[in-house]
Amino acid sequence: MDVPNFYNLTLPELAEYLVSRGVKKFRAQQLFRWIYGERVKDFEAMTNISKALRAELPQMLKVELPTVLTEHLSTDGTRKYLFDMGEGKSVEAVLIPTAGRLTLCVSSEVGCNMACKFCYTAKQKLQRRLETWEIVGQFMAVSERLPEGMRISNIVYMGMGEPLDNCEAVFRSIEVLHSPWGMNVSRRKITVSTSGIVPMIPQVAKAGVRLAVSLNAVDDETRAKIMPINRRWPLADLLQACRDHCQQTGDKVTLEYVLLKDLTDSLKDARRLYEITRDVPCKINIIPFNEHPNSGFHRPSEGRINRFQEELMRLGAHVLRRKTMGRDIYAACGQLTTLQEKTPKSVELAPVPQ
Ligand code: SF4
Repeated sequence: MDVPNFYNLTLPELAEYLVSRGVKKFRAQQLFRWIYGERVKDFEAMTNISKALRAELPQMLKVELPTVLTEHLSTDGTRKYLFDMGEGKSVEAVLIPTAGRLTLCVSSEVGCNMACKFCYTAKQKLQRRLETWEIVGQFMAVSERLPEGMRISNIVYMGMGEPLDNCEAVFRSIEVLHSPWGMNVSRRKITVSTSGIVPMIPQVAKAGVRLAVSLNAVDDETRAKIMPINRRWPLADLLQACRDHCQQTGDKVTLEYVLLKDLTDSLKDARRLYEITRDVPCKINIIPFNEHPNSGFHRPSEGRINRFQEELMRLGAHVLRRKTMGRDIYAACGQLTTLQEKTPKSVELAPVPQ
């Protein structure tokens, strides 16, 4: 029988499993306290568990995190971790320090089927959806490697993959990371980002976490060109789902808008963006495109980026420009993984200080 991985289980599930193996229910709580509270993974070090049970536990349960293949530190402080997902596949997590926050961006799938044209991950197609332990494991493995005194404060599901294409594992991982018996991260500090799987958006409100939507264009024709998902769920449906989310939760939604030169970056686009979102309680994150080889898209000039932002501000939108972090370590969605798999020697990366 395959032994379950601790990180794949919620507290009630572990309790049920242990009981089925003749172990008292309260042991589940003890294990959670040791592993999440004390970060102790070795059963032998769990001193309030009887010696006999400590000897049996390895046959019942494994406590394994995904392996970190590489860790790279950018000159701007961004750290990027590449995780082994077996069979030569990998995913990445990116740790982004900003004023008073340490945000971990986690992956939910190996590759992605959403086929957004500007995205590097899309080139890999969906290989498989991650399991709960592999998502929780990104958080735990990065936490373990942080220097003393550093703690992840925020989590965004914005790495490789479409989180709402892997709802079960994503929302289970949120339960583990949020629960007091897990990592106790506030729901307010967890954000799920979607390319627009409209029927699944209500689940984000149900989980009580924040919603980000990758909008990226202001009309259906352009959006469908760069995000095929728009053919299935067009802008009107997506924006209505955003309004519903805001109404249910009282939250603002974050609308991500990648600025692509000569495609989505005109003043007319800025005005239209304001028009279509003015009745959606939101903040708009504009993200100048992070160029990558053979994408066919370009980053607008600084002048155009500024004019776009200023026009939105003039109209009264709540707009922020996302600083492009980690450009020297390929920290945009999926970029490092693809480079690692295909041309491992070609990427020059800043070393991690010891
Ligand atoms: S941008 Fe996100 S949803 Fe779109 S293809 Fe890339 S990983 Fe998938």
